[in-house]
Amino acid sequence: MLFEFLKQNHECKHTHIPLDADEAYCPDCGALVHNKWYIIRCSCCNIKRSSHLEYNEIKPDTKYCQNCGGTDFYIQKFDKINLTDINYAILKKEVISQKRVYSKQIWIEKEEQLLAENKIIGYLI
Ligand SMILES: [Zn+2]
Ligand SMILES: [Zn+2]
Repeated sequence: MLFEFLKQNHECKHTHIPLDADEAYCPDCGALVHNKWYIIRCSCCNIKRSSHLEYNEIKPDTKYCQNCGGTDFYIQKFDKINLTDINYAILKKEVISQKRVYSKQIWIEKEEQLLAENKIIGYLI
């Protein structure tokens, strides 16, 4: 049973979550997933370097910076990505814990209630 669960969790890549969403429920496995974007920049000349994921770690595609020949780099993290950066950015889909899923649902319900109340007030006026 637990093995089945882990297997399912491992297999879902959450591919149907829209790239422009901050966070969304995966339609395939039901997990609340947060889109996180990462860009690698050269520590020396600050240019954006193309990168890839290797065993869930972000690594530059090439050993040396094509602009200055440096090897040092740093990783910038973004909640949202600019379209101009999308070619350099690496997307990691982080599953948010079950506890936060629960509180998020409550929050949405409250907001919908407030919206409904506002609508009623709007109609009365
Ligand atoms: Zn999923
Ligand atoms: Zn450089």
